[in-house]
Amino acid sequence: MKNSRICPKCGSNEIVVVDGFAGAYGTGNNIMVGATIFSAVKVDRYVCCDCGFSEEWIRNEDIDRLKNSNKVHK
Ligand SMILES: [Zn+2]
Repeated sequence: MKNSRICPKCGSNEIVVVDGFAGAYGTGNNIMVGATIFSAVKVDRYVCCDCGFSEEWIRNEDIDRLKNSNKVHK
């Protein structure tokens, strides 16, 4: 869905992207990997405007930070 911009559920191409955001006190769509918002990993959300299906993606440059975080389990 991120790459094709096609909804896997209904086949629509009416996909919009809600950018990840890290605000005060952990608001916004993100994963807190450290003590402050500066270390939050932002989560972009792809939403189908036809059926409402949504997918969440971490940006490539943030994946290592998430992997190395003590907030995740392997
Ligand atoms: Zn859809």
